[in-house]
Amino acid sequence: MTSKLHWVAFILAALTFSIAFSLQPDQHKVLLISFDGFRWDYLYRVPTPHFHYVMKYGVHVKQVTNIFITKTYPNHYTLVTGLFAENHGIVANDMFDPILNKSFSLDHMNIYDSEFWEGATPIWITNQKAGHTSGAAMWPGTDVKIHQSFPSHYMLYNESVSFEERVAKIIEWFTSEEPINLGLLYWEEPDDMGHRLGPDSPLMGPVISDIDKKLGYLIQMLKKAKLWNTLNIIITSDHGMTQCSEERVIELDQYLDKDHYILIDQSPVAAILPKEGKFDEVYEALAHAHPNLTVYKKEEIPERWHYKYNNRVQPIIAVADEGWYILQNKSDGLMLGNHGYDNALAEMHPIFLAHGPAFRKNFTKEAMNSTDLYPLICHLLNITAMPHNGSLGHVQDLLSSTAPRAIPHTQSTTLLHGGVKPRENEQEESYAYFIGVSLGSIVVIVFFIVFIKHLIRSQIPALSDMQAEIAQPLLQA
Ligand SMILES: [Zn+2]
Repeated sequence: MTSKLHWVAFILAALTFSIAFSLQPDQHKVLLISFDGFRWDYLYRVPTPHFHYVMKYGVHVKQVTNIFITKTYPNHYTLVTGLFAENHGIVANDMFDPILNKSFSLDHMNIYDSEFWEGATPIWITNQKAGHTSGAAMWPGTDVKIHQSFPSHYMLYNESVSFEERVAKIIEWFTSEEPINLGLLYWEEPDDMGHRLGPDSPLMGPVISDIDKKLGYLIQMLKKAKLWNTLNIIITSDHGMTQCSEERVIELDQYLDKDHYILIDQSPVAAILPKEGKFDEVYEALAHAHPNLTVYKKEEIPERWHYKYNNRVQPIIAVADEGWYILQNKSDGLMLGNHGYDNALAEMHPIFLAHGPAFRKNFTKEAMNSTDLYPLICHLLNITAMPHNGSLGHVQDLLSSTAPRAIPHTQSTTLLHGGVKPRENEQEESYAYFIGVSLGSIVVIVFFIVFIKHLIRSQIPALSDMQAEIAQPLLQA
């Protein structure tokens, strides 16, 4: 009877050990994927079986509020820092910094100027400082030297590198002798085609189908590499897309003298730098110029955009209504789809799906903020988050019951704008988790020693009747 109890206890102890030491490390690996410009409702435009497969065996968030302005670089930097644009400093794809006296533009090499990026520390650097390795396949900013660092592995940006080649690199890094625990994968579509065709075009159907096939390819390759069930995979995007038209154009030349201002960024948020002594003239001329254009002095920019407290935000910004296009002159030409509008608009929202050992299965959540992703990833990687504008508490219901849970946040003041959560929270929850695992392990080890001693004692009287070769291993134990 006692012997049976011993065996039950032994099996329980072994199970506890295996859960504590073999399942948990898997929960600390993350692959973050961005399909640029994948609007939240593209999932339902055409059959997307691979996206739905991830939803069925993972989690899905219907509405993700991204950050203003809803452009590529600002939002990608938010996903990896958890900060609003005014705090991380990448306030647009095209910027001018009056302190640095430098410009930043997607079309130029000056995006490699470190100074534009160093208002924040992206997650790959924090991950590496914690002793881990990161790998990035063309994620915006990952080939820029930031705070003297690059990701441990990265690819120089080159849009002609295929999706398949990027996937191969990610898999190589996750399966190498010194595997990465954080991978970042970026793909330019469906943004590019969304701009050219406009999201309402029936030709967008095949574009979305193609992205679904690419996701299918990624899943297939991860399964082949035995990574599918061990990695936490997060599939998201930076922004959505809305339909534009030649009938909805606001032409600045109709209202402003070209010699009175510099147009830093154009549409749908025009960033206007008036020339010296011309501020009032430019502002007055534009303020009531067009019913679909809202013009703000910098200090009047709504708080909810978390946008005005940065030097790179120009003295006047003019924001177009959804679907309206700002051009300096009609001859400049427009794209049939665009984004950058108010982040409260559903059409600007991206997708969010996740799958892996840390996530629940077949779980749908109504809403989250894109700033919440950063503390979630830090939690999964078990690293201490830098100060950020998100909240792990807002998204911890996405985590499965076996995943480490976070303790509730406490409010704290900070120098950053927009209610930043203190980094101590993330630190505490990692400590709580590890203290839990350590205490659990100590209890199991102590129990194990007592059990073995007990077993040996109970076996000793019987040993004389046993053959020596059976008794020997027991005595050695
Ligand atoms: Zn775009």
